[in-house]
Amino acid sequence: NSSVHTVNHDDKDKLLGGLIAPGFDEASCISKVQSHIYRKTSPQKPSPYLISKLRGYEKIHRMCGPKSKAYNRHMIRILHSKNNSATTMCKYLIWTPANGLGNQMISLAATFLYAILTDRVLLVRFGKDIHGLFCEPFVNSTWILPKKSPFWNDEHIETYQKMLEIDMTKNSKEGLPSALFINLQYTPRGPEKFFHCDHNQELLNKIPLLILLSDQYFVPSLFMTPLFNMEITKMFPEKDTIFHHLGRYLFNPSNEAWRIISKFYDTYLAKANEITGLQIRVFKPHSTPHQAIMNLVLNCTLTHKLLPEIALKNPVSSTGKNHPINSVLVASLYPEYGDTLRTMYLKKPTVTGEVIKVYQASHEEHQKFYDNKHNMKAWVDMYLLSLSDKLVTTSQSTFGYVANGLGHLRPWLLYRLVKNGTHFPSCVRDVSMEPCFHNPPKHFCNGKPIENHISSFLYLRECQDVPWGVQIV
Ligand code: GDP
Repeated sequence: NSSVHTVNHDDKDKLLGGLIAPGFDEASCISKVQSHIYRKTSPQKPSPYLISKLRGYEKIHRMCGPKSKAYNRHMIRILHSKNNSATTMCKYLIWTPANGLGNQMISLAATFLYAILTDRVLLVRFGKDIHGLFCEPFVNSTWILPKKSPFWNDEHIETYQKMLEIDMTKNSKEGLPSALFINLQYTPRGPEKFFHCDHNQELLNKIPLLILLSDQYFVPSLFMTPLFNMEITKMFPEKDTIFHHLGRYLFNPSNEAWRIISKFYDTYLAKANEITGLQIRVFKPHSTPHQAIMNLVLNCTLTHKLLPEIALKNPVSSTGKNHPINSVLVASLYPEYGDTLRTMYLKKPTVTGEVIKVYQASHEEHQKFYDNKHNMKAWVDMYLLSLSDKLVTTSQSTFGYVANGLGHLRPWLLYRLVKNGTHFPSCVRDVSMEPCFHNPPKHFCNGKPIENHISSFLYLRECQDVPWGVQIV
């Protein structure tokens, strides 16, 4: 069997249990047709209600999106009315990127859920650095904000923050702008945004065009909003699958990305009996020596038997046939991690007789901004990690969140080491495959501080990797 790890040839799951709408031009997005050959079938099917909401959303997107007649008409109306008194049928939500690709993808998934919940058309401000990474998710339309749109620019657009500062309850519909900029980006001590409050959402609902800037997975705050809570629960009866389903729906690798991903997989991973992903994110490379990180990684993987020990004496010979192959996929900016691990397992046999093969698709040395090729490599790494059977990621890294969400994996979270030293335990098992929301609201809608999210909101848990963050379980 030349492809031991190939998991799913069942054509029924080609469209991911109904998540992906049929009837698209298959040559334009090969990954949509082939991903089921590379991925394990999701053990949690999308609910019929989620599927009907997605089909409903696609209809609105076709009707009001950039390729429709209604689009120009509505945009002109939004631009020329000082307020929104003209009732518009189509409403829009423009997503604006911030931070690295992982941050961007989790915030985009959250923004898409917000668009579905509020019947808005999602448009994205993809710069050159993101162009060509993903297929168009919405059939017969585009999600890219047209180049000539004046809404590439936020100047002269009123802000949500300013609206909060004036007493919102006094705002009549007539006083509201037709476009509003909402900044939900993480700041450690920023003012409360009360975005999770019904009364603010009711007001925002009256504004035809919203521009949203976020680097966070703010789905938990949508969950905390009574207006949205029931609807989300209906769409996702299994609450921990929100990013999993929305991510698989939205983020299909473009043909260029798919060529790299499928070729790497076919060449190095397909023959493995098991694939172990290791995402090694070093947040402070200057103060954290490679050896300290390597020790942490080894401690975690050996303790939890994700990788076997090296045999010191009487090794089970691994030179014969039929020894199981464990392919280890290392994702890191630095080549040293893949190299060290490869050398370690090349020289000596393992106690279990397993053959360990170590691969690393790229080593960019540092994070680069506004660089398309660099982002392509990041996307390839995230996707390949998501094809693992077992996954180790680094605490607090949104790059890792994307991989475990897409892969339906609960990872082992490596401690976030930022100086020379060690830590015990070196890693902990995550309780959910949902991304962690790093800056949940700190106040109830009446202004009282939330002392404890967990006791106040049943479906939330403190994240394993960010004590001040919350996660849906
Ligand atoms: P986070 O900072 O870990 O939360 O993840 P982000 O994805 O938001 O930002 C980190 C960025 O650094 C990525 O988007 C990549 O550009 C780069 N990067 C970090 N780790 C890796 C890696 O393992 N592989 C690749 N190719 N790029 C990485």
